[in-house]
Amino acid sequence: MRIKDEVVNANTIGISGHIRPDGDCVGACMALYQYLCKVYPEKRVDVFLEQPSEVFSCICGIEQIRTDFKTDVEKYDAFIALDTVKERMGEAEKLFDKAVKTINIDHHISNSGCGDVNYVDAGSSSTSELVYDVLTEEELDVEIAKAIYIGIIHDTGVMRYSNTSPKTLQIAAKLISFGFDFSELIEKTFYEKTYVQNLLLGRALLESIQFMDGKCIVSGLVKRTLEFYHADSKDLEGIVSQLNQTAGVECTIFMYQTGIQEYKVSLRSKGKVDVAKIAMFFGGGGHVRAAGCTMNGTFHDVVNNLSLHIEKQMKEAGLL
Ligand code: AMP
Ligand code: MN
Ligand code: MN
Repeated sequence: MRIKDEVVNANTIGISGHIRPDGDCVGACMALYQYLCKVYPEKRVDVFLEQPSEVFSCICGIEQIRTDFKTDVEKYDAFIALDTVKERMGEAEKLFDKAVKTINIDHHISNSGCGDVNYVDAGSSSTSELVYDVLTEEELDVEIAKAIYIGIIHDTGVMRYSNTSPKTLQIAAKLISFGFDFSELIEKTFYEKTYVQNLLLGRALLESIQFMDGKCIVSGLVKRTLEFYHADSKDLEGIVSQLNQTAGVECTIFMYQTGIQEYKVSLRSKGKVDVAKIAMFFGGGGHVRAAGCTMNGTFHDVVNNLSLHIEKQMKEAGLL
């Protein structure tokens, strides 16, 4: 896909990603936004997202993000959904549904393509990597390169996860040749945590429980803890991967309470358990090694329901 071919006849273009946008989602949306504004100064381009984490304020144009999801455009000529299926777009789903032409670019294995035109590749490290594919190199610049690079490092855990391919690194090499301070970007957007974020990480680690012979680990944060620290979902990024780094663990569950009997669940695996399959069973999605869903019930209900599926897969894989 060349994005130019897809939007050349559109006068108004909307871009959005998923709720609670992560680094890949923000990076992909902002790279594409900057690119389309640059290539087509005469077109109206709007980018809609829930308020991204403060760490992404280094991305050029981030202040242009529309968090109101209200627009005076009747319907967009083209609407592009990045890093998501339409059901996970929150308020932007309505804008997507109304658009004349819809385009979906994503790398989730659980996504079979929700646009009129789809560029979905579960083999890709990130949606940002796919955005790089659909741009023309001549029009890239340092600010677009930075946004794509941020997206890639966030979804690959700084080129560490198995979704990192030779192609990912070749793209990263081209991006850093634009000369931005990649080291600072990684430090400031990925590793650096606020004091409160570190306290919450500490609590989640301290209260974690290993079970299934130590092959599974679970931890969770209830609403009153989040309220005590004035924390939101943006403060919990990275906790699940830290838990998953425990030696001997094959599968990790991290959840935080979002309602009276409601939890946002994050699942991670070291490859032998397919957590996308489990998340999809509970109405969510993701990748083999990283997936998520929202579940109802008490903390223990959620653990029990997930454990049945994890145990089944572990037995099939000969782990138990
Ligand atoms: P998380 O643990 O929420 O950061 O999500 C891990 C991976 O699964 C990410 O690639 C998410 O985009 C994806 N994911 C999380 N929740 C959902 C969901 N409800 N539906 C589809 N994909 C999800
Ligand atoms: Mn994402
Ligand atoms: Mn992604």
